[in-house]
Amino acid sequence: MNAGRRRFIRFGGQLIGASALGGTAWRIFTGSDASAEFSQPNNPYVWRINLDKCNFCGLCETACVRKPSAVKAVNDPTKCSYCVACYGHISDLNVSSEMIQDKGVRVCPYDAVTRKQLSGGKDGYHIYAIDEAKCTACGKCTKRCNELGTKSMFLVIRPDLCIGCNRCNISAVCPKNAIERAHSYPEDDFKGDYELEMQMKAAEGEVPDTPNAQES
Ligand code: SF4
Ligand code: SF4
Ligand code: SF4
Repeated sequence: MNAGRRRFIRFGGQLIGASALGGTAWRIFTGSDASAEFSQPNNPYVWRINLDKCNFCGLCETACVRKPSAVKAVNDPTKCSYCVACYGHISDLNVSSEMIQDKGVRVCPYDAVTRKQLSGGKDGYHIYAIDEAKCTACGKCTKRCNELGTKSMFLVIRPDLCIGCNRCNISAVCPKNAIERAHSYPEDDFKGDYELEMQMKAAEGEVPDTPNAQES
């Protein structure tokens, strides 16, 4: 596995919450579906949030040029503990399981964090997800999960929502310098193909093989 591929997979790992994204982002970043709908299919770059830097300050909600923001919260199912009570869901965890739905004080101002029983009865495992239609990227749920929980909730710039501004407006105000530009595909993946193509053309006499050949 080459270095570009490893970097790419690490980057894609940040989007492992793709189940919460309906799979769109995952398809884009794995390149497994060329017909996936997104705004700039030929753009070699995307903007992304460096999760090692982001402190969920809330500016992603308001600074994006898109309204609502192209940023959304996701919950990574591989990191979530499926707790009875979730830090990102309710602010006071001292509520019995059966009362959480009706009485739990929501962290999200828009009640976008959903809770569903998975197994083990009312005190067993529960699935928490983000209703993307309601999420404005305020960062409240992600902040609590990262400060108190397992860091399974985080913010992503959705490639299918982002219009790929030349300079991301959020990057201009982010206090943690957490907005980064990254290749939307492994940056060295196509180099081999290009070099092979040039060699074949050179063999056919279409283009010079080397710069020296061009000069002579
Ligand atoms: S502006 Fe920066 S620090 Fe604030 S939520 Fe967005 S990426 Fe995170
Ligand atoms: S708390 Fe904020 S970031 Fe979390 S789901 Fe609600 S709107 Fe989205
Ligand atoms: S590049 Fe533009 S559309 Fe995309 S997240 Fe930044 S400000 Fe929003």
